[in-house]
Amino acid sequence: MSTRVFRAEKGTLYVLATPLGNLRDITLRALDILGSADLILAEDTRVSAKLLTHYGIKAPLRALHEHNEHKSASKVIDLLQQKHSIALISDAGTPTVSDPGAKLVAAVRAAEIPVVPIPGPCALIAAISAAGLNAEHFYFAGFLPVPAKTRRAQMEALAETLRTLSAALVIYEAPHRIRRTLGDLLQTFQEPRDLIIARELTKTFETIQRIPLADAVTWLDAHPDTERGELVLIVDTPAAAQRNTSAQNTTDDDATLNRWLPALLEELPPARAARVAALATGLPRSAIYDRIAKP
Ligand code: SAM
Repeated sequence: MSTRVFRAEKGTLYVLATPLGNLRDITLRALDILGSADLILAEDTRVSAKLLTHYGIKAPLRALHEHNEHKSASKVIDLLQQKHSIALISDAGTPTVSDPGAKLVAAVRAAEIPVVPIPGPCALIAAISAAGLNAEHFYFAGFLPVPAKTRRAQMEALAETLRTLSAALVIYEAPHRIRRTLGDLLQTFQEPRDLIIARELTKTFETIQRIPLADAVTWLDAHPDTERGELVLIVDTPAAAQRNTSAQNTTDDDATLNRWLPALLEELPPARAARVAALATGLPRSAIYDRIAKP
């Protein structure tokens, strides 16, 4: 199998995703572009230097953070018009996703200069992919505002939209604010919902935990490490409420359960079969487990 090597095109801005923690999480194309770009714009040059040194990449590195982004845009556009190739990266994950870069990208696009995404790691996508959501859709709200009043108001507005859309809420949060945020989530979402805490993704102490939102503070007390490291919080849609939205759904879920449960039990231990069936139907795991225990 031949692996084609890509070279950064002249006069092009690449928006390039880098690892969240595990340095092996970088695409071959990302390495090709970083290795051939004339300039790399990074949020914090010290953080990105570690990644580049690891892969033996020597392109010049310059800082582009939210405080100089607007001012830097015209200089970057000049360089692109002089046919330099430039890669934009952030400390971790995908630039512009709760990270600097969007203003620069908008300015470069407005100047009719090509902007090419080099996709890869993104904390919210990694968290969603391994969360086993009930919800078919999700709403990513990034970091919620820090001032208490604004944050609560935004959460209330989000909760209303999420009920209408039947979507999960995904937020980024700093670990030292998790307690405060859990308190706000509990006040906002009064119906039973599950919370997924996806912490230290791709790193040594990666944890992806699903707990009832109502138990989250007790869980946090028992797991103080959660107040360190990076995390994504997901509030799933309530499985029970989903089932109640239509009697037809309930009938369908029951029929699915009757069809699949015997087959699942042939292949898996009861607890795992109940978990898979709960994810597939949205029925509570405890009810499925009861049915297994008392057929
Ligand atoms: N641009 C990044 C992305 O694509 O996900 C996000 C940058 S934002 C400044 C940093 C936030 O992303 C952290 O506070 C945390 O909420 C989330 N995050 C980044 N890395 C993470 C990881 N390894 N595990 C869990 N969450 C992470």
